[in-house]
Amino acid sequence: MAKKTETYCSFCGRSAREVDLLMPGINGCICSDCAAQAYEISRNYLSEKGVEKIDIDNVPKPIEIKEYLDQYIIGQDRAKKYISVAVYNHYKRLAQKNDDVDIEKSNIIMVGPTGTGKTLIAKTIARLLKVPFAIVDATVLTEAGYVGEDIESLLTRLLQACDYNVKLAERGIVFIDEIDKIARKGDNPSITRDVSGEGVQQGLLKLLEGSIVNVPPQGGRKHPEQRMIAVDTKNILFICGGAFEGIERKIALRLNTHAVGYGVDAKNKRIAREKLLHYVTPQDLRSFGLIPEIIGRLPILTNLEELNRDALRRILMEPKNAIVKQYIKLFQMDGVSLSFSDDALDYIVDKAIEFKLGARGLRSIVETIMIDAMYETPSTDKTKFVVDKEYAQAQLKKANFEIMQQMN
Ligand code: ADP
Repeated sequence: MAKKTETYCSFCGRSAREVDLLMPGINGCICSDCAAQAYEISRNYLSEKGVEKIDIDNVPKPIEIKEYLDQYIIGQDRAKKYISVAVYNHYKRLAQKNDDVDIEKSNIIMVGPTGTGKTLIAKTIARLLKVPFAIVDATVLTEAGYVGEDIESLLTRLLQACDYNVKLAERGIVFIDEIDKIARKGDNPSITRDVSGEGVQQGLLKLLEGSIVNVPPQGGRKHPEQRMIAVDTKNILFICGGAFEGIERKIALRLNTHAVGYGVDAKNKRIAREKLLHYVTPQDLRSFGLIPEIIGRLPILTNLEELNRDALRRILMEPKNAIVKQYIKLFQMDGVSLSFSDDALDYIVDKAIEFKLGARGLRSIVETIMIDAMYETPSTDKTKFVVDKEYAQAQLKKANFEIMQQMN
């Protein structure tokens, strides 16, 4: 009997017995170790190649960016406009050749009540621009040495979003949520240690202004044995968001003082509470407890408005992936035509307002209303399902929705 000839890896020369897996090709073989190495090398090569030079002619113009945002975000025109311009300028900055005028980074801060679309705007922008995007919560960050996450771990998420491709991450977008939660507590910074306030702001400053930062690949706390990844934050766009609850009082105070001091007409004093946010300035952020250096690094300041009944109704129906459209699609896949009566939609909006859930609540309300229908309909031969107010009411009652909300 002829002896079976031994096969070898054409790259490292080891025999089939010495490796985990030997894969045959047309003229040779490759072992699993060499394949893994080849994958790494090609990935690095392609990632460098994938980071193309920015050609400003190919970047969407501010009006186009805003039009894209309009498809997903209802209202908030001012914020959308500001952000469209800021993002466009950010790209101009990336496209800039060596020049004597250095365009500064246009990091953004959005002030507005929770659930009004801050995160949605940031996410939608990232999708349009096809850049890595990460959402991080400022509340988990603490100064080095204290329980919590190191500030650099903000960038871990960004690296993870692009499979640790540093070059891509270096031009990504980071959305820092709840930035207001790291405001300085109290006016005098020296009274007590403020480990989650001013210290974190100082740490954040380094990231915002652009520097080379050592990032722990797995996030959390840095420890000495860990291998760090150096990331240059010079071209990373930071978008911060926060509710800044109570900032209206500071704005009102400033506007009133102004009115008295300079004899501006009394109209200023009558600015409705909900409109006050419109007048937010860097000075108000400072009174709220952000340090001036941080404010200086977030030059684009814009506000989002509380969503009114009309906006909530539109959010249910209009955006490209509106909640109602999503359910219609789900039912369609079972061959069922789903529709909502006008009074059912009004009722859903009323409930979201009543429970102060804003846009974020619309989904959970609709989900609660639809759960039985989604459970039962696929097993029936129904071809039509109409949700009217009575049905919606009965479903919420059945699910004890009101009690659930009161417990929250
Ligand atoms: P926040 O302002 O707290 O960051 P989000 O952007 O996370 O709020 O909004 C929560 C959800 O509410 C979004 O995923 C979206 O479904 C809905 N939503 C909020 N605001 C809007 C808006 N202006 N247009 C469309 N949907 C919105």
